[in-house]
Amino acid sequence: MSYKCRVCGSSSVYEILDMGAMPLAGDFRPMGMKNQLFPLVIDGCESCGVLQVRDIVDQSLLFGPAYCYATSTVPGLVRHFESYAGSFASRYGIGSKRKVLEIGCNDGVFLAPLSKYGFDVVGIDASDNVANMAREKGLDVHTGFFGPDKARQLADQYGKFDIVTCSNVFAHNPKVNDFIEAVASLLDKEGEFWVEVHSAHDLFTGLQWDCFYHEHCFYWTIQALERCLGTFGFALKDYETTPMHGGALRAVFGKVGKTVPLVAQSLSSDDWRGFGQNCFKSRDVLRECVQHLPINYAYGAAGRAVTLINWAQIAGSLDFVVDGSPLRFNNAIPNTTVPIISEKEFFSLTNVSDWCLVSAHNYFEGIRNKVDAAFPDKKMKYVLPLPYVSIK
Ligand SMILES: [Zn+2]
Repeated sequence: MSYKCRVCGSSSVYEILDMGAMPLAGDFRPMGMKNQLFPLVIDGCESCGVLQVRDIVDQSLLFGPAYCYATSTVPGLVRHFESYAGSFASRYGIGSKRKVLEIGCNDGVFLAPLSKYGFDVVGIDASDNVANMAREKGLDVHTGFFGPDKARQLADQYGKFDIVTCSNVFAHNPKVNDFIEAVASLLDKEGEFWVEVHSAHDLFTGLQWDCFYHEHCFYWTIQALERCLGTFGFALKDYETTPMHGGALRAVFGKVGKTVPLVAQSLSSDDWRGFGQNCFKSRDVLRECVQHLPINYAYGAAGRAVTLINWAQIAGSLDFVVDGSPLRFNNAIPNTTVPIISEKEFFSLTNVSDWCLVSAHNYFEGIRNKVDAAFPDKKMKYVLPLPYVSIK
């Protein structure tokens, strides 16, 4: 391998999965506009255990004007962040006025409930589109990429923070060591760093190859995360897994205090190589099923669907993909001519196939409830793509 691990600097990086040329998972454009393709290869590090995307795409392409993922359009995520804010309130107390910085605050889905609990909140997001939505809610939000420069600006304006938090952002930044140093520089001595990432353990057990995309530079197990933060003097004070995004890892780090023992099992390079081979099998099963079953649409057009549809090459079987986010309507699934339609439009269709490919399979229960309610006379069959196709 011609590059060194971006986390620990080791040369013992090995290939797990080569998915070929893929579009960016957030690059939604109107029908007929071309998407640029980039190689998508996932590697592992023998030394620190982190998974990483081999070819890093420029951040301004990933989170530029076309980026349109608004967290508040996903009811499951709204509930997740309300409950997460409750965890903060029970750890620090209600009305504590603690200063919180959220990196990658999106449209303020987490800052809003934190603010209601009495936290003094500030956010930063790389995308001006979604940052503006947060500002419309009256939140104090900066636009830009978080790193050492931005940290200095924030420190000048606000001083030190009691808490720095980021959900599904930590894995997005290729300069992870600069990111952690910048967090450490902003935290008060007793401060805590909360991080939520997709759990690489859940990715492994669920064969979730659809969550590989260029926006995610890294995939973390708790062991890799603890090792990485440990080199910056952080101790792991608490961690748990939550069901968000098909399995998330939530960890709390502090500059003072002891590291808690890890209970999760370590995954070896052999485990990951086997995982890579199984991803190909899983994809081939999905492709076969879509070709042979009367499936002509999918439900859910988030990043996962982009990888799912492109890597399995099933776009030719799909007439449309249904989605709940108004920002995606009237666009196509990247690198395909499959249009994205609203739930309202879908529910008004009269001739809907009773075979529904659930591309947003991490929100399956919610989707089933909505679709069953919209088509009470149909006996819907829900096709869940991973780990291997199942029908519910
Ligand atoms: Zn490494």
